[in-house]
Amino acid sequence: MPGATNFMAESNFEEKGPRLIEADHRHMWHPFTPMDEWEGEDPPLIVERGEGAYLIDIEGRRYLDGVSSLWVNLHGHRRAEIDKAVRCQLGLIAHSTQLGMGQTAAIELAEKLTAIAPPGLSRVFYSDSGATAVEVALKIAFQYQKQRSPASPNKSKFIALNLAYHGDTAGAVSVGGIEAFQEIFHPFLFKVIRAETTYCYRCPKGVGVPPCVVCAGDEIERLILEHSDKTAAVIIEPKIQGAAGMIVQPEGFLSRVREACTRADVLLIADEVATGFGRTGKMFACDHEEIAPDLMCVAKGITGGYLPLAATLATEEIFDAFRGAPVEGRTFFHGHSYTGNPLGCAAALANLGIFETEETINVLQSKIRRFWKELAQLRNLPAVGEVRGLGFMAGIELVADKEKKTPFPAEMGMGRQVIMAARRRGLAVRPLGDVVVLMPPYCVSEEEVTWMASVLGDAIEEVSA
Ligand SMILES: *Cc1c(COP(=O)(O)O)cnc(C)c1O
Repeated sequence: MPGATNFMAESNFEEKGPRLIEADHRHMWHPFTPMDEWEGEDPPLIVERGEGAYLIDIEGRRYLDGVSSLWVNLHGHRRAEIDKAVRCQLGLIAHSTQLGMGQTAAIELAEKLTAIAPPGLSRVFYSDSGATAVEVALKIAFQYQKQRSPASPNKSKFIALNLAYHGDTAGAVSVGGIEAFQEIFHPFLFKVIRAETTYCYRCPKGVGVPPCVVCAGDEIERLILEHSDKTAAVIIEPKIQGAAGMIVQPEGFLSRVREACTRADVLLIADEVATGFGRTGKMFACDHEEIAPDLMCVAKGITGGYLPLAATLATEEIFDAFRGAPVEGRTFFHGHSYTGNPLGCAAALANLGIFETEETINVLQSKIRRFWKELAQLRNLPAVGEVRGLGFMAGIELVADKEKKTPFPAEMGMGRQVIMAARRRGLAVRPLGDVVVLMPPYCVSEEEVTWMASVLGDAIEEVSA
């Protein structure tokens, strides 16, 4: 029985469990976590180990890792090939800098990434998280417009979608469009030109049936053309806005954005941090519409969920604008201490190796079909407003009134209640407000896919009863 609770004999919870929980409550500050609520959790989930698609906590309980450890894990925990690659790399060197020198694993990975990326992306700039990959893309775009020939120094602004999420550093939050994350920081952020998003379920135009002017791409196209003389780049999460609650773009939207950027002579930055490496059923979300961005940000799944590594890919045309003698001052002055860390690069190479040896993308297709067939049944539940997503990325929006689409009062914390009920059944997931997210590792079996959907259904029924 997948996910069944199983107390492991070798766990010595009695000895260390209470001490660790106490130390966590005394010293830890968890990200995106209301800390009073966390300290009140009984029992708290504290992971000790992983095994394939499962997390094993300090009491030896097993949970199916239903959000792939926050969207990063692909082939499971403790994958022999990736474990081995990291160990081999440790036998060579754990870290050396990319500033003014090279490193074997980093070079090999750059070669591989450019080979699988959409056409034209021939340069790899490494960093260490999705947010830094986005900062790098924004800064490259900004500097590129000043240094291209002929220079376009007035092209300095960014166009981003409403409800966008691009990470938590200042530039990334500036282009982000989730008010709850930005509110307090507005004086600290730069202003962006905001385009409406394709949230059909709660249509911003009150139309509700596609295609409205937003979903068809008319509105964003108009915005891009209108602001072409002052815009450096458009940044977009291609095909699906993850953190917004899995908001899917209708077919053709992304292509419209690409065409408009080309016509307006504005760069297109694709933030593939969540969608990259097979998550949407293709290697990259851009592949669904066969478009190529000018800059592409990848992170999360790049190491198969092992180590912090990110990359910003760029075209040769962009790269060329940064060439010149040092005194010309065209260099891109940006870099992090652990940029292109060799252990991360070795893990990433092994991760991409599995895609080849196991034909991951092919194998994933029937699991994706099963996933959507099972999730479709949740649509019948009275508390489920919409089930949406793409590939192995799903969001289930909970509502108090299905007809009127009325949300539950925020203070009820419905999303959280549902995930706690799922956790008691052995499924670890995390909600985005009242959107329950399901984003399993690719290594789950079809039986486990069915089990996850039925556990979520039971959890939603229990909580909404
Ligand atoms: C998670 C995410 C980021 C930020 O990545 P971090 O590694 O958490 O900094 C950026 N963009 C998108 C689309 C994401 O989903």
